[in-house]
Amino acid sequence: MTVTTPLVAGNWKMNTTVEEGVKLAEAVRLGTEGLKGVEVAVLPPFTHLRPVYDEIGHSHVQLGAQDVFWETKGAFTGEVSPLMLAGWCEHALVGHSERRHILGETDREVGRKLAAALAAGLHGILAVGELEEERFAGEWVTVIDRQLHSALEFLPQPPTPGQYVIAYEPCWAIGTGRTATPEQAHEVCAHIKAWLTERTGAAPRVLYGGSVTPDNAASLFAETAIDGALVGGASLRAEQFTAIVTAAAPGARVG
Ligand code: PEP
Repeated sequence: MTVTTPLVAGNWKMNTTVEEGVKLAEAVRLGTEGLKGVEVAVLPPFTHLRPVYDEIGHSHVQLGAQDVFWETKGAFTGEVSPLMLAGWCEHALVGHSERRHILGETDREVGRKLAAALAAGLHGILAVGELEEERFAGEWVTVIDRQLHSALEFLPQPPTPGQYVIAYEPCWAIGTGRTATPEQAHEVCAHIKAWLTERTGAAPRVLYGGSVTPDNAASLFAETAIDGALVGGASLRAEQFTAIVTAAAPGARVG
């Protein structure tokens, strides 16, 4: 994992059976094999992590969880500890808008999850993003800054760029087909980088997420502040996801 190579991660959400998931992972592995200059990750449901791990093995495809709990062990029925993932699962996504807005996760809880994930040695994917009404009210800066601030609050020291990425996902663009324009996405991603550079000394990669498809991926990746994508719907179709990963790779396919 480097901090300059683009990363494209597929968030499968609550989709696929275990068998379908393993097949999807295999198709992603085969479809993206030989691509240079891009990192690719899949984030299956918890139940699929081990079988998908067995399928992708030590290939170029990285594995991530869609969430993680903030405690490491104990009486927390149904939760998954970062220690249960560490050592074989690379990424942990925290703060996805569906968890914030459907399941009521607070900024504070997201911050505790990020801290626990990093403490366990997982690579964090921190999702941030404003609601549609917040964008209309001109409040996206306030919202993003608040989410970033809370996420860093529980870390014992400023994170290094290799420990995490930010996924900027405007809530109004997730699963709606209403992708942010490349200019809108660039503006927020650049803001996030400047904010984090000021507070932590360096910026991590910043991904864009929200209705990314093979048709709009290249124009988003052409923006200098966008270092890849977090992909939902299109990550469930191996050929679409592969096309998006290919669009993020600077070089041509090898072999
Ligand atoms: C997501 O779930 O993180 C996401 C960006 O979804 P979609 O690509 O479907 O908008």
